[in-house]
Amino acid sequence: MLKNDMLEQWDRENFFHPSTHLAQFARGEAPQRIIRGGEGVFIEDREGNRLLDAFAGLYCVNVGYGRPEIAEAIAAQARELAYYHAYVGHGTEASITLSKMVMDRAPAHMSKVYFGLSGSDANETNIKLVWYYNNILGRPEKKKIISRWRGYHGSGLMTGSLTGLHLFHNKFDLPLDRVLHTEPAYFYRRPDPDMSEADFVAFCAAELEALIEREGADTIAAFIGEPVMGTGGIVPPPAGYWEAIQPILDAHDIVLIADEVVTGFGRLGSMFGSDHYGLKPDLITIAKGLTSAYAPLSGSIVSDRLWKVLEQGTDENGPIGHGWTYSAHPIGAAAGVANLGLIDDLGLVANAAETGGYLTAAMRDAVAGHDHVGEVRGEGMLCAVELVANKDARTFYETPGKLAGAVVAEMAKHGVIARAMPQGDILGFAPPLCLTRAEAEQVVAATARAIRAVLD
Ligand code: PLP
Repeated sequence: MLKNDMLEQWDRENFFHPSTHLAQFARGEAPQRIIRGGEGVFIEDREGNRLLDAFAGLYCVNVGYGRPEIAEAIAAQARELAYYHAYVGHGTEASITLSKMVMDRAPAHMSKVYFGLSGSDANETNIKLVWYYNNILGRPEKKKIISRWRGYHGSGLMTGSLTGLHLFHNKFDLPLDRVLHTEPAYFYRRPDPDMSEADFVAFCAAELEALIEREGADTIAAFIGEPVMGTGGIVPPPAGYWEAIQPILDAHDIVLIADEVVTGFGRLGSMFGSDHYGLKPDLITIAKGLTSAYAPLSGSIVSDRLWKVLEQGTDENGPIGHGWTYSAHPIGAAAGVANLGLIDDLGLVANAAETGGYLTAAMRDAVAGHDHVGEVRGEGMLCAVELVANKDARTFYETPGKLAGAVVAEMAKHGVIARAMPQGDILGFAPPLCLTRAEAEQVVAATARAIRAVLD
């Protein structure tokens, strides 16, 4: 047990929590959960309750909690060399080894990896690189970035703008200029219920073409997308979606940024979502699964094509004016080396495909027939259950979020953590990649029970 009995009070009085209703939290009305430990797919709160974390923290603890291999690698690195920077050609054994391990796993046409700290800062890096690239190529007008409504790319100034969720824009004066949003690949929420998947893919492609036409291809630098949309609702794309989108981008010389913060390093049952869907991006964003969140570390993987222009840029202008004090932090890098080794040793990519597939299939069997379950969907170790007011009419609840929040709260009473996704009534599941079938069954049973308790 945690010994300090002041923690609850200190928390409400001092701690500014992200993505939290600040007023309700300070007044003691919004829930508080203090976590003290974790092992495998389970976490334990300060009262000693053991909860199956079916969202792996924020879809990041991919190898599961309490792995001594990573803890020991971090401790050894801290003892030997807690910090040195990576500026002007400096490196450490950990950061150089990790760069090699990342590039060995990345798609073949990729060239180098830059390390940051969070998914947000990696996407900020990506946008700067795309602007630099077009300036070096003598195309200073080609700077706008297309993102998708419901995409999630972080919550900085630029990345919060790219994010297509209203909560992250409202009252922050976002999105910034230069950011455009287009239709998400969200078949269940298609504008016309009579559209087939193929019709809807054609519609998304036509929307993108029309946006490019309106704005002018010579003003558009990049398109950013998650291979499977995550925070916007855990939505795998309809068949043929990426096959339709990539040629449009190529035709207009628009760089594709694959945001693989969630999908990178195995979550879809493939090492990268880009491999999974046959994408050929010029930039890949990585974070969460890179270290399984044992330490903060992210990265921007750069293609050969882009890299050549970056080299040209530094020949013409001097060193690249970009970097953080903590870029390639040795402790994060040591965690990354141990983590990627463990993913291989434990066969977690294959397990994400197998047990993840089982989880979604079992979830479908258990809840898809319920009157208020509109859709059960998933890919690899990602699964979502979308709740609807009226299934046949496909209508959504008037106050979105309430019912999903209630179901998730009910599930926690029965020892399972799911996430109420921030826009709509969508239950999200993204367990550690080491989930077993028995644990998947526990998740499904708690979900079915909670849906009945809240919605019947
Ligand atoms: N990109 C994607 C796809 C994400 O899911 C997230 C976070 O959930 C981010 C970027 C931002 O990462 P971070 O929260 O580490 O800044």
